[in-house]
Amino acid sequence: MTHYADREINVDFIDALTTFIERVVRPVETRYAAELSTTGTIDPTAQLSERRALRRQSAELGYYSAHMPAELGGFGLNAATIAAAYRAIGRSGLLLADRGGVLPNVEGPYLSMAAFNDAQREQYLSPLMRAEIEGCFALTEPDSGSDAGNMRTKATLEQDTWTISGTKRFITHGAHADFVQVIAVTDPDAAPSQRHSAFIVDSGTPGLSVGGTYGTLGEDHPVDLVFEDVRVPTSAMIGERGRALPYMLSGIGRARLNIGALAIGKAEYLLSRMTDYAGEREAFGRPISKFQYVQQFIVDSSIEIEAGLGLMDRAAECAESDDHTARRLTASVKLYATEMLSRVADRAIQLHGGMGVTHEGGVERYYRDARAMRVYEGSTELLKWNIARWLGLKTD
Ligand SMILES: Cc1cc2nc3c(=O)[nH]c(=O)nc-3n(C[C@H](O)[C@H](O)[C@H](O)COP(=O)(O)OP(=O)(O)OC[C@H]3O[C@@H](n4cnc5c(N)ncnc54)[C@H](O)[C@@H]3O)c2cc1C
Repeated sequence: MTHYADREINVDFIDALTTFIERVVRPVETRYAAELSTTGTIDPTAQLSERRALRRQSAELGYYSAHMPAELGGFGLNAATIAAAYRAIGRSGLLLADRGGVLPNVEGPYLSMAAFNDAQREQYLSPLMRAEIEGCFALTEPDSGSDAGNMRTKATLEQDTWTISGTKRFITHGAHADFVQVIAVTDPDAAPSQRHSAFIVDSGTPGLSVGGTYGTLGEDHPVDLVFEDVRVPTSAMIGERGRALPYMLSGIGRARLNIGALAIGKAEYLLSRMTDYAGEREAFGRPISKFQYVQQFIVDSSIEIEAGLGLMDRAAECAESDDHTARRLTASVKLYATEMLSRVADRAIQLHGGMGVTHEGGVERYYRDARAMRVYEGSTELLKWNIARWLGLKTD
């Protein structure tokens, strides 16, 4: 029988983090209440600078890198605790707590960075954990997304210099990062699992440019990153040549669990908004909470949130291992929770009636926000395909 790691949640950490969110992040977001109510968002430049300031405070307290192993300077907290932390961020309903305001999004330290060598740890990982610099991760391309192994970006070696050429698409934080982790084909004739290598490229390296920014229906502004004969030394390689796939996969289960937990937290926030509004709003001389169709929005959401929490628990129990059960459950919670959040956000709008579709009502932005979560870090359909395989079905 597989022995799974400790699944106890560190309650003291969650309490401290929640206090930080309420005492530090909420007052900052309150300053933007009028803008949020008029536009449904906060100006992207202001979001960027507020999150930078917040995550530095979070990093000073160790929260920002609490998931990283103790030998790398983190708290080494287990998967269950970190998932509970992302859930707390979702429950706060705060835009600035999300996306790297308190815990890392793509700009911050990932577990897979344990593969960095000593020099890379000193130059990149340590300042990243102190929130002094920011990164991004470049995998997707114009012609390869879910099918990432089919990428065209290539790196060729001449003496002690790699030359990287290609275009990466939808790169979150790509326009603001101090360095890029980029995956490229280095060994096209090797077995599919050994064709790709990972490199660190400093922004500002000649030949690397931002090709264009995508506006999206949510808060994301991913960019194209263009590599035109970008030259880096052999020391820029992460881990071993041809080993980008295991590098990318290490920690992916926990990343998916965290997205699922964040989505569950956001659904809980919307549930409380629905419950409050249903009690306050009156129609036909009584609170709308007395109508069964309205109750159904709340009851269905509550049941689905509880189901998500059960799945989150199961996934957290095994997320630190890398067997088929762990992969299946972490993919399942990411898939279920992001789909569920979209349903809950849709109900929250409907329950708020006309006010639901306005920025002023303050629930429509969760609907927009939820949508992209079903696409990145494994689309719903790709994850179903993978789960089928992990269940032993033939998929090719
Ligand atoms: C907001 C946002 C931020 C992003 N940030 C980053 C980032 O920082 N770095 C990065 O590298 N990428 C990033 N991405 C890219 C993201 O990872 C890809 O969009 C995602 O992998 C899907 O790839 P695609 O867009 O090419 O769609 P495709 O792979 O072309 O998929 C199109 C459709 O086909 C379906 N499909 C594909 N394969 C299968 C299958 N095997 N079985 C069933 N259905 C399938 C998909 O589910 C989808 O419905 C981001 C995307 C978004 C939207």
